[in-house]
Amino acid sequence: YANLKKYLSAQTGAQKLTPRMQLVERELQLAVKQKYFEGFEIYYQPIIDIKTNKIIGAESLIRWQNSELGPVSPAEFIPLAESNGLIIDIGHWVLTQVCEQINNWRKSGIYPLTFAVNLSAIEFNEPELINKIIHLLNFYNIEPGCLELELTERMIMQDVHTAIYTMNKLRSLGVKIAVDDFGTGYSALIYLKQFPINTLKIDRYFVQDVPNDYQKAAITTALIQMGHNLNLKLVAEGVETEAELAFLRQHNCDAMQGYLFSRPLPKLEFEKFLASNKSLPV
Ligand code: C2E
Ligand code: MG
Ligand code: MG
Ligand code: MG
Repeated sequence: YANLKKYLSAQTGAQKLTPRMQLVERELQLAVKQKYFEGFEIYYQPIIDIKTNKIIGAESLIRWQNSELGPVSPAEFIPLAESNGLIIDIGHWVLTQVCEQINNWRKSGIYPLTFAVNLSAIEFNEPELINKIIHLLNFYNIEPGCLELELTERMIMQDVHTAIYTMNKLRSLGVKIAVDDFGTGYSALIYLKQFPINTLKIDRYFVQDVPNDYQKAAITTALIQMGHNLNLKLVAEGVETEAELAFLRQHNCDAMQGYLFSRPLPKLEFEKFLASNKSLPV
């Protein structure tokens, strides 16, 4: 498990602020609070139905290009924004951008797709979250089922009862819920069927090299099986090779995203990508 541990600690991030982190934090504060999200943009990574090879949606991923620092990865600035509270503003900006975009795409006749948005723990636990989402759905006249919120196992396991309560409220609006990075958190599987979720996203860690790694293969097939028994949709993250795709197809995974099909794309390129109707190399 050495690799998994290393992978997980890289995801959770360091606690002490290095000079680099202090610089990033200062620029982040400026960009968010004083420059109206200058340099921020949402990218969209297509999600593909494995059986039909059709694009069924996209995951929204934030990008930040800063004049001092160049591109800064969300893996770097999101944890900082969580620790200084900026994530509330950032998260609201992301949801607003995505909802506005869903509305524009619907008006321009792009067929119904599901757009996933990542929520951080702090946003998920914010009392105003539900009202903000109600407002955005109404304001942009969005079919709620077009919006899927991604939560991580870790987030929902912190306080199971409150999480179930909030998730039920979201579901009652018609919004969908996915559990992101599934398999790497504290999977108390016994809770899984109590959570009102629609989708499980199998973490990239398990997908990478899955055909050649019997442990990953065993876990991935078990996750798919279990998810299907609970009537959940399974999405594999980080699919990079034909062999990984073949394995997932053979084991009935429902959908996938990854560099094999497409990297996350700026909105105009995502539109072109949809229009080009590109299908998978078989
Ligand atoms: P995530 O939600 O698990 O997103 C998937 C990450 O995997 C993305 O990294 C995506 O670019 C990357 N990815 C997709 N396909 C492949 C592949 O085939 N190979 C490899 N190596 N990577 C692939 P990204 O965009 O750097 O985001 C990292 C994390 O930052 C996300 O992980 C998510 O936890 C967080 N994040 C990104 N955007 C947002 C946001 O708007 N709000 C919040 N709260 N978090 C965000
Ligand atoms: Mg995600
Ligand atoms: Mg993920
Ligand atoms: Mg991840």
